[in-house]
Amino acid sequence: MFITRCKTKQVRVGRVPIGGGAPVVVQSMTTPDTADVQATVAQIHELEQVGCEIVRVTVNTPEAAAALPAIRSQITIPLIADIHFDHRLALKAAQVVDCVRINPGNIGAWWKVEEVVKAVRERNIPLRIGVNGGSLERELLAKYGYPTAEALCESALNAVHALEDIGFTNMKVSLKASDVHMAVDAYRLFSLQSDYPLHLGITEAGTLLTGSIKSAIGIGMLLADGIGDTIRVSLAADPVEEVKVGFEILKSLELRHRGVNVIACPTCGRVEIDVVKLANELEKRLGHIRVPLNVSVLGCVVNGIGEGKEADIGIAGGEGVGILFKHGKLIRKVKSEELLDTLLAEIEIMAKEKEAELYGDGNGNVNGEHGEPTASPIPATGHSGNKEIPLLKA
Ligand code: SF4
Repeated sequence: MFITRCKTKQVRVGRVPIGGGAPVVVQSMTTPDTADVQATVAQIHELEQVGCEIVRVTVNTPEAAAALPAIRSQITIPLIADIHFDHRLALKAAQVVDCVRINPGNIGAWWKVEEVVKAVRERNIPLRIGVNGGSLERELLAKYGYPTAEALCESALNAVHALEDIGFTNMKVSLKASDVHMAVDAYRLFSLQSDYPLHLGITEAGTLLTGSIKSAIGIGMLLADGIGDTIRVSLAADPVEEVKVGFEILKSLELRHRGVNVIACPTCGRVEIDVVKLANELEKRLGHIRVPLNVSVLGCVVNGIGEGKEADIGIAGGEGVGILFKHGKLIRKVKSEELLDTLLAEIEIMAKEKEAELYGDGNGNVNGEHGEPTASPIPATGHSGNKEIPLLKA
């Protein structure tokens, strides 16, 4: 499957480009009180470790706004301030962060938005216009009766047009709902009418399992249409999981290739090694690896190790041993109790070699600004938003 991505404008959040052909960016949001600098920074470092490329913090109090400089100075990835209700917090945050997110549905009078625009303009940082099914403007709720994809789209377009009227275009947009159909339809509708970069998400998606599935379906449908420039998977779980799930969605669609991709057989009565434990441990302990590596864990050699030949490295169960292979070729037999440590050590060596090969410039730059090459080049002309996309019932 070849995904033709929609051609969008590009904005920059710090050093990270969003839209305009840049790789789809994975972001997350912190969970401690932002005023607690130590806890917030510690979590951001954990997020950075698993590949989070942009982080958002809520700025809900003057204390949270006051903490931003200290947070900013201790992290390397771009920082976004998330503002609801109080535009004065946005004005403070705009002095420090790399992007400000506001929700036009709850920020209040237009002059307040204009003040925020003035502040972000002074530092040449973008705004994210984040509309949400749960906080639509009163007029739109009165017009549509309840939150709909059309209402979300109209809310976002109204904000975009009003900002354009004052000459402001440095923005990206999100149209979130927790209902997958509504969110997907809203993004599709907006994409037909605008080429601002889109931040995708299914808001309040749920727990690790249900939220990941909802997000994979909703975000996945849009990405497969070519819609979306950055994603956040919203989970009622450790945000580290959000980043991992985000990358898995992108990897499944071959839009990004970051990190270890564990291929594991489902096991059956022939299984000779503990595939489930091995696969889970590998995923857990290799999250820091950023180069793409396929690792295969097969319960037996019923189909020969050739079954794992697509993998860079892998293990297959044998009688009381595991068979280590690289690119489908047998390397050696390993005692069952040494399998995990052996595999981990071999993968670390492979990752370092690949890292040197890919990140040769020493700055972590691959094929451009901040990430690995995208598998979905944007056509020189056209915008898939021009084509008719049938809407689903909300
Ligand atoms: S690789 Fe072996 S253990 Fe795994 S599912 Fe296939 S036959 Fe069963």
